[in-house]
Amino acid sequence: MVTHTKLLFLDIPECYVEHPPVIPELTGGRNERFLSTSKKIDVHYDNNMGRYAVASEDIEPGDVLVTEEPFASVLNREEFGSHCQKCFKTTKAPIPCKKCSSVLFCSVECRQNSFFHTIECPILDLLVGSGMSINCFLALRLVTQKPVSYFLDMKEKLNEEDLKEITNNKEVYDPSDFMRLYNLVCHSQFRTAEDLFHRCVMIVFLIKALKKTKYFDGKGSSSGDKINDVELFIGSLLLRFLQIVQFNAHEVSEFCLMSPRSLDGSKNETLGAAIYPTLALFNHSCHSAQACQNDWPMYKDMDTSVMRFKCHKCHGPLNVNTEQLLNPFIKCEKCGEQTNILSTLKNLQNTEQTFKAACKEMDAYNLEKAEALLVENLKQLEACLYPPYRDYHLTQEAYMKVCLCQGNIRIRQPKTEE
Ligand SMILES: [Zn+2]
Ligand SMILES: [Zn+2]
Ligand SMILES: [Zn+2]
Repeated sequence: MVTHTKLLFLDIPECYVEHPPVIPELTGGRNERFLSTSKKIDVHYDNNMGRYAVASEDIEPGDVLVTEEPFASVLNREEFGSHCQKCFKTTKAPIPCKKCSSVLFCSVECRQNSFFHTIECPILDLLVGSGMSINCFLALRLVTQKPVSYFLDMKEKLNEEDLKEITNNKEVYDPSDFMRLYNLVCHSQFRTAEDLFHRCVMIVFLIKALKKTKYFDGKGSSSGDKINDVELFIGSLLLRFLQIVQFNAHEVSEFCLMSPRSLDGSKNETLGAAIYPTLALFNHSCHSAQACQNDWPMYKDMDTSVMRFKCHKCHGPLNVNTEQLLNPFIKCEKCGEQTNILSTLKNLQNTEQTFKAACKEMDAYNLEKAEALLVENLKQLEACLYPPYRDYHLTQEAYMKVCLCQGNIRIRQPKTEE
């Protein structure tokens, strides 16, 4: 007789089991051309800057601008024993590879959907032992995740698209389309012969390693030293990918809590690298450029006695030493207009209260409440002050933690109660 027994995580309290992250809705709805982005974003092309994302409407704190599945991803070697190769989930009941003991999967589905590992399995120790970088792994993964026939079918269609035309002619940008990945920048024309030679040596190694697997299955050359046309073609793709990942890969991370339902000592930790065709079009934020151009101080060096208010007319900075403030009417050096900062000072007192309340909610792990307060605070501070200032930075850091809690979380050292 068969009895159905339910498997229970008997001694694991609910809070130790990480909740699966929910992919949030894009704010303002999906962009009709750039399928991974919100309608608040547009992508432009410029001969100097290439492709770059811009805001097409005002962006509020907390808006979700991009949600995208990576085209390829690679887990760091250090995480092989704790995270699924395919989906990066941590798992308490790992499913092994049928042939090696180097990797694990969270489910039979993930194992079945990991074609790349059936290729990499026999050479994984060699690849890890070679000390090759995570970017190099990612370039290889772009090849090993698809059979050689996929690339051979595509061979005639592969061409360097005119990015200006593609961006401006309103074509739909589908991140799952291989051509989108193929046409990410690789800056070959700026590279030195030494750089390209170094990459080629790496690729000879990778092709030789791939020849030891079933990847070329009948399409490869039998001799170890000869390289036939198919292998050469895959090598040329690898050379391109190796250049693309250098500028376009993103880190994948996980938020680690030191104990359940507590943000004390929590930190973000790297899991691996991935390539997202739309996210790759985003350069750094305007703020970071502004910080460099205007030589913003480090957080610890910020002067707290001088506050930078916003001129009510031109929004330019009004530097005010609040400790010596006699007259609330401040004259703008840029436009000459006077601004009464009394109401702003009062608002700032409110933001202090809001921030304290948010911290209290964070301490109690009431993340939704904390998030609402922090977003409100960011908006208030933004309206009052001209960057950089400490309070805004502190609120941003706190808000980032709350946001990270919405992604994949791991509890690093669960306390055992005895
Ligand atoms: Zn998985
Ligand atoms: Zn294996
Ligand atoms: Zn002004």
